Amino acid sequence: MLRAVLGRVCSRVTQVPVAVQVARFSAAAIPAPNPKPDVPYTQLFINNEFQDAVSKKTFPTINPSTGEVICHVAEADKADVDKAVRAAREAFNLGSPWRRMDASQRGVLINRLADLIERDRTILATLETLDNGKPYAMAYTVDLDIVLKCLRYYAGWADKWHGKTIPIDGDYFAYTRHEPVGVCAQIIPWNFPLVMLAWKFGPALATGNVIVMKVAEQTPLTALHLASLVKEAGFPPGVINILPGMGHTAGAALSSHMDVDKVAFTGSTEVGRLIQQAAGKSNLKKVTLELGGKSPNIIFSDSDLDWAVEQAHFALFFNQGQACASGTRTFVQEDIYNEFVERSVHRAKKRIIGNPFDLKTDPSTVDEEQFKKILGYIKTGKQEGAKLLCGGNPAADRGYFIQPTVFGDVSDNMTIAREEIFGPVMQILKFKTLEDVIERANNTMYGLAAAVFTNDIDKANYVSQSLRAGTVWINCYNVIGPQAPFGGYKASGIGRELGEYGLEAYTEVKNVTIKIPQKNS
Ligand code: ADP
Repeated sequence: MLRAVLGRVCSRVTQVPVAVQVARFSAAAIPAPNPKPDVPYTQLFINNEFQDAVSKKTFPTINPSTGEVICHVAEADKADVDKAVRAAREAFNLGSPWRRMDASQRGVLINRLADLIERDRTILATLETLDNGKPYAMAYTVDLDIVLKCLRYYAGWADKWHGKTIPIDGDYFAYTRHEPVGVCAQIIPWNFPLVMLAWKFGPALATGNVIVMKVAEQTPLTALHLASLVKEAGFPPGVINILPGMGHTAGAALSSHMDVDKVAFTGSTEVGRLIQQAAGKSNLKKVTLELGGKSPNIIFSDSDLDWAVEQAHFALFFNQGQACASGTRTFVQEDIYNEFVERSVHRAKKRIIGNPFDLKTDPSTVDEEQFKKILGYIKTGKQEGAKLLCGGNPAADRGYFIQPTVFGDVSDNMTIAREEIFGPVMQILKFKTLEDVIERANNTMYGLAAAVFTNDIDKANYVSQSLRAGTVWINCYNVIGPQAPFGGYKASGIGRELGEYGLEAYTEVKNVTIKIPQKNS
C-alpha cells in the first residue's frame, strides 16, 4: 500500500508541522470547497479523448468519510491498455509532433498544465478530499502546492538535460545523447493521488517520454479532471493517457506489456515484486519502484524535547499515517522515554477527527479494507504485549475513521514494529546506546527514510551515515522538495524520484562515436 510520501512543500512554511502550516493560510486564502461538485470526467482518457472501456464496465468510487458512492468510473482492462499503449507508441514514433517538438516547448506545455491546475485548484482539492478523505485544507495547501512545484521544477529541466563529450582514446570523438526511454507505464497509489501523478509526469514529460498511467482504483477522480487539462494545455494526442482500473487486470496488463518500455510504480513492496517479475518475464522493460517503509525515527536525550515530540507526532500522523516514509518506529533514549511517551500521548489525543471539509480535521483512512487491516494490527499489537496508551478503536459510526493510537513498550520483534501498518498507529521503542539503536534501526527489510533528533552534530552525522535509507532527516521529518531525490534502499525500492536524479530513470543514454580523419593517415 502506499506509499508515497508525503511531503511537504519545501518552502519555509513547510518546515513546520502541517497543522501549523495550514493555520498559516488565512481562512480567506483557502477558497470554500463545493462538497457536492459535478464530476463530469469519469471515462478513460486515451489519445486525448474521453471514452468508455471496451468492455463498457464501470466501478464505483467511494467517499471514505461517509462510505457513500460518489459516482461510477470506466474500468480499464487489457483491451484498453492495448489501445492506450498503441496511442502512446504512435505519439512517440519518430516524426510525430511530440518527437519533433523543441525541448523548450515541452517545458512550456508542462508549465501550461501547471497553470491550468492552479486555475482549477479548488475543484481538484475538492475532488481529492471527496475521493481520498484527506482534509480539504491539506489537499488545497499541501498536496496542490507539491504538485505545482514539482511540475514547474521539471518544466525548467526540459531543455537542460543533456549529455557529455568524452575524450576517448584514438582518432575519435564521442558524445552522449540523453534520449527518452519511450512508452512509460506509471502505476500510482491512493494516498497522494495528484502528488504521485505529478512526481511521475514531471520527469517523464521533461525528458520527452509518453505516458500510460493507471491511477489507483480508490482515487481516480482528480487524475481524470487533470486529463481534461492535458488536452486544454495542448499536449499532442497520445502523449498522456490515463486509465482508471484494477491492479490485477489493468495494472498487470501494463507491467507485462511487450510494447511498454518502462514501468514506474509506487505502492506496496508486495505488488512491486509482482511488477518486477512481470517486467522480467515479458520484454525486460526498465523498472523503477517506490515501495514501503518502516522508517526509524531516533530521538536522543540531548534533543530539544518539545520539537522532537511534535516532529515525531507529525512523522507518524501526517496523512493519518498513510505515507510510505512515515516515522513508524519511534526509538526514544531511555532517560527521556517516560516523559516523551506521556507527551506523545497527550499530543495524539489533541487530534480532531471529523468532516474533512472542516479546516482542522484529520482524514479518514481510504477504504474499508485499509480500515479493517489497521484495526487488525492494533489487535495484534495488544495480543503481542505492546502497551496501548490511547486510541485503538474506530472513531466514528460512519466512514473509515480510526482514533489516533499510541503503543508504548514496543519491542523489535513485534508485528507492529516490523510490518507497515499505514495508519494512525504510533509505536514507541526504548533504546540505551547509540550503537544499539543504529543496529536496531537498520534491522528491517526496508530502507526508505529515517530521522535522528539530537543537538550533537557529530552524533547526527555519524548516525545519518550509518543508517541504510534513501533519505535521512536530521532534526526534522517529512521535508520533501522537488529538487532533492527520494527513494529507497533494500526492499523499499529501485531508483530515485525527484530532483536531477529523477531524470535518469526516464533516460536512455546513447553513446555516439565518430572517427576524425587525420591529415597524415
Ligand atoms: P495499496 O495497498 O496502497 O493499494 P498497492 O500496491 O496494492 O497499494 O497498489 C498501488 C497501485 O498498484 C494501485 O494502482 C493498484 O491498482 C496497483 N496494483 C495492484 N496490484 C497490481 C498488480 N498485480 N500489477 C500492477 N499493478 C497493481
